[in-house]
Amino acid sequence: MKVKDSLTFLINFVFPNNCIVCSAKSGFYLCDKCLNSIKIYDKKRCSICSRPILSGDICGVCLSTTRYYSNGYSLFNYKNDTIKKIIEFIKFFNNPKLVNFLFYFRKEILNLAIFDGVECIVPSPMHKDDIRARGYNQSVSISKVLSKITGLPVCYDMILKIKKTKKQVGLNYNGRKRNLSGAFQFCKSYNVKKVLIVDDVFTTGSTINECAKILKSREIESNFFTIAITPSYSD
Ligand SMILES: [Zn+2]
Ligand SMILES: [Zn+2]
Repeated sequence: MKVKDSLTFLINFVFPNNCIVCSAKSGFYLCDKCLNSIKIYDKKRCSICSRPILSGDICGVCLSTTRYYSNGYSLFNYKNDTIKKIIEFIKFFNNPKLVNFLFYFRKEILNLAIFDGVECIVPSPMHKDDIRARGYNQSVSISKVLSKITGLPVCYDMILKIKKTKKQVGLNYNGRKRNLSGAFQFCKSYNVKKVLIVDDVFTTGSTINECAKILKSREIESNFFTIAITPSYSD
């Protein structure tokens, strides 16, 4: 790589010129066209967990499994290419600030019923070794944005992840449940009765449910928020 090329590479890395989705020159991670194309997932949803459903009000998973959270909402469809790319950039390419795109959906977020009665935001915890490897916990970054939008404080250490777990990808509901067993620990009480658990993607909901279980054992009710949902999952 020539000096000029490496300089260009460095500048692009620090100040990206091109949209991460369509590569158009934008001066930011997302061009206006891609940003404007993002829509809230508008399918009929389960009134408890927000999974897309064909009929009724409550999905089969909420009816048939033990669920410790009260109510949750995921804004976007993870199968949308733009959303997928944004989340991949946030999680795997060292761009936690990209969560700021959520500010464009400030109005929609403020209208969500999941904030009713909530006293603080609890990021889905990562094991300290994983935070060290990635450099940050993306759920903390999302929580900070939600905190700025809603004015709710973030309780960073209410729950800790004390056990390293296998990657959840490829595991079914029961496999994920086993994998997460004993992974989390209640750490610090903030004298609150209801919180919002925050994560990036809702797939089976097992991480959120495990955190909610720990909170419930301390008589703390929980709702959840995630950026996106994987809609095709079925048990
Ligand atoms: Zn674009
Ligand atoms: Zn449901």
